[in-house]
Amino acid sequence: MSSAEAFYASIRAELDSIREAGLYKRERIIATPQGAVIRTADGREVINLCANNYLGLSSHPKVIEAAHEALRTHGFGLSSVRFICGTQDLHKTLEARLSRFLGTEDTILYGSAFDANGGLFETLLGPDDAVISDELNHASIIDGIRLSKARRYRYKHNDLDDLRAQLQRADAEGARFKLVFSDGVFSMDGTVARLDEIREICDAHGALLGIDECHATGFMGKRGRGTHEARGLFGKIDIITGTLGKALGGASGGFTSGRKEVIDLLRQRSRPYLFSNTVAPAIVGASIAVLDLLEGSTELRDRLERNTAFFRAGIAALGFDIKPGDHPIVPIMVYDAEPAQKLAERLLELGVYVVGFFYPVVPKGQARIRVQMSAVHDEITLQRALDAFAQAGRELGLIR
Ligand SMILES: *Cc1c(COP(=O)(O)O)cnc(C)c1O
Repeated sequence: MSSAEAFYASIRAELDSIREAGLYKRERIIATPQGAVIRTADGREVINLCANNYLGLSSHPKVIEAAHEALRTHGFGLSSVRFICGTQDLHKTLEARLSRFLGTEDTILYGSAFDANGGLFETLLGPDDAVISDELNHASIIDGIRLSKARRYRYKHNDLDDLRAQLQRADAEGARFKLVFSDGVFSMDGTVARLDEIREICDAHGALLGIDECHATGFMGKRGRGTHEARGLFGKIDIITGTLGKALGGASGGFTSGRKEVIDLLRQRSRPYLFSNTVAPAIVGASIAVLDLLEGSTELRDRLERNTAFFRAGIAALGFDIKPGDHPIVPIMVYDAEPAQKLAERLLELGVYVVGFFYPVVPKGQARIRVQMSAVHDEITLQRALDAFAQAGRELGLIR
């Protein structure tokens, strides 16, 4: 066998072992826009409980209209990175509007939040600096930290004693600047970071605090500004990264927001910003319309909050094991990968679209169905979903 053929054979063997372990992921194909109910490619109408469409803005008429308008006035694409000829008035408007929404001085757009995190740490921190990161932070934060030369410290998930210990270690080892970084909301569990306490600890150690707000911007806090608002820290976070690809319309794009000088340096040095294309005008125009909607009324985040309370109470009453909390992410724990996949398949047959999550997306033995609430749901739809969970859960012996 040639070495190229041996390479392909080894890839196939790896795929086989993924299948044998019951960990093989298949894409399900959808034939409609995003919504409370969607149609799959094989023609089934199903209740959708697994999109990050928290506010229902992915198909909101005003958002679609704004995208059309920007397409008409600003074209389809810019065929350029930002600093050559990829910055339109729309991009500057959206950056200013995001800064106001988040309570920061300035904002820089990226092609994705993955890129925002990927281009953050390397740009801001050098080999004498320390980054102190929650062990369950998103993959893009982990990768971004790997790319930087900063010293790396990891604290146990949401464990403030360990955070203090890691900050002390960083001090003892002579760190110049220290940046503590955490997801505002952890996407696999819906856990909200204890930011108020983390901020106090950071202040006591002279450390900066950064958060990734991908599962928070738009609906956490009374005005939907994010975890910092929910935890009484509006205007008190050094660095916020986030996405346009979830609650804020769900297309794509990301951002980093913070002090003027930080954002300015990112524009000079951040590699995913310098070497990757600008965000498309239709997305930028639509995102401005999203912020208009959210600044004008809290109706959508309020409805999301009510739906979340309704579904969490209902699923717990059925006897399912859920992670406690009040975030619209509701992890329904099954623990083993195979029954999690079976539950998801049976629910799909019963007209409810959910996805099983298992290793490597979550730790081994922590498989689950992650349900996500949306403002587009109503109680009748959610009750139908709960009834399907009851039936499938009993059939599979997961509940009585
Ligand atoms: C989804 C997500 C990202 C990636 O966002 P994209 O804009 O899709 O790249 C980054 N961080 C967290 C915490 C996320 O949940």
